[in-house]
Amino acid sequence: MGAPSEAELLGIWERGEGQWPWRRALALLAGAAPGAAEDELASMPIGRRDAVLLDLREQLFGSAFTGLTACPACGEEIELTFNASEVRRATANGDGPFTVNAGPYEVTFRLPVTADLVQLDGVSDLDAARAALLARCVTSTLRDGAAIAAADLPADAANAVTARMSEIDPQADVSFDVACPSCAHAWLEPFDVVTFLWTELASWARGLLFNVHQLASAYAWSEDDILRLSPVRRNAYLEMLQ
Ligand SMILES: [Zn+2]
Repeated sequence: MGAPSEAELLGIWERGEGQWPWRRALALLAGAAPGAAEDELASMPIGRRDAVLLDLREQLFGSAFTGLTACPACGEEIELTFNASEVRRATANGDGPFTVNAGPYEVTFRLPVTADLVQLDGVSDLDAARAALLARCVTSTLRDGAAIAAADLPADAANAVTARMSEIDPQADVSFDVACPSCAHAWLEPFDVVTFLWTELASWARGLLFNVHQLASAYAWSEDDILRLSPVRRNAYLEMLQ
């Protein structure tokens, strides 16, 4: 895929800024797959989506990641540096449906997609969100061979379904090992490519708009004119303004 142009990236930022994370994910995904229909992108399993977004991130900002986290044991703030290869996982093989057996229960399901997350906007309770997600993704629930409602699955059977989803689609649920340099506490740090890439894109967009503001103020050029300048030429003018 070709990398989106500066103007396209600004458009992605404009569409996703202040929006729910799923909306941002779709805006980024549309930038990586121009011409694809939104409902097609929204029905990609999360892992496949995030693999595309990880590729996009490498293309735009490189393979090295830097982030901040806090040790859950001692509160020490830790700078994390890692490579894209450390957060790259396999993606689901096939679209399902998939089946998991837990005790007397046999559950058939498909993998969560971005369109499922749309329904979770404003659901802040984690258990309620998970139940809503299962209700959408579970297509059949049997107990000793007889159909029951997905909502009647006991917690351990529901856990078995979500665990199986992560096994099938590892890129959808990424975490990596971190150890605290101060107290040696070790934990699994979650990695969300959408949050990461969005933060970087927003910071890049604000930097670019600030440069547009400086040049427009000094030369009365239009935003279009300024964005048409190559970054090299734009920076040369910005240096002259210092
Ligand atoms: Zn610590």
